[in-house]
Amino acid sequence: MSPVDIIANISEVRARIASAAKSADRDPKQVTLLAVSKTQPASAIRAAFNAGLSQFGENYVQEALEKMAELRELPIEWHFIGPLQSNKTRAVAEHFDWVHSVDRLKIAQRLSDQRPQELPPLQVCLQVNISGEDSKSGASPEEALALALAIQALPRLTLRGLMAIPAAQSDDPAKPFASLAALMATLSKEIPQLDTLSMGMSADLAPAISQGATIVRVGTDLFGARHAR
Ligand SMILES: *Cc1c(COP(=O)(O)O)cnc(C)c1O
Repeated sequence: MSPVDIIANISEVRARIASAAKSADRDPKQVTLLAVSKTQPASAIRAAFNAGLSQFGENYVQEALEKMAELRELPIEWHFIGPLQSNKTRAVAEHFDWVHSVDRLKIAQRLSDQRPQELPPLQVCLQVNISGEDSKSGASPEEALALALAIQALPRLTLRGLMAIPAAQSDDPAKPFASLAALMATLSKEIPQLDTLSMGMSADLAPAISQGATIVRVGTDLFGARHAR
């Protein structure tokens, strides 16, 4: 396998972000590129950091903790984006800056209780199952408002917005992102400080940006194919 050219990949992804933002009359600076580094070695994260990226997303707690230890001298902002079980909330509360995948109150309460006092509040997004698929995690759109209000009241969390991983769609790729943006608009009437829409990955970052994504989560197009775990 040829080595991944991380510098070329970053400029290619940034160009796609800029072009999608321009088409939507948005400032590309409103879109944060979160580098999804699951299964990639610490050396790949270091190379991406040296090439200008500083926000990284991880899905597996143990794997992430090992890489954080190796990279502890780098000022990286770590985002947890994978499914989160109760027995892993403490490690996430202690080591991450953001969690995108909060989808039930019990997990949010544990994260708030376990967030160390010396750290700033944990920044969280509510994950919503926007395509209504049984297989995907996420709260239903119907329960999102009640859940968002409850999460917002927790002392050691700051609710920033919504996250979704829509099912692949062939007819209109923008549709699920438009639904998430509409839900965000509804929630914002009750919780005006919401400012984050975490949506769009390698294959669909352009339609996500067209619908208002403020964080795109990109793995494959930056790092190449994922490694076996
Ligand atoms: C793996 C993953 C990504 C990145 O997906 P790519 O298609 O490799 O860009 C984004 N978001 C979540 C939640 C993921 O698990």
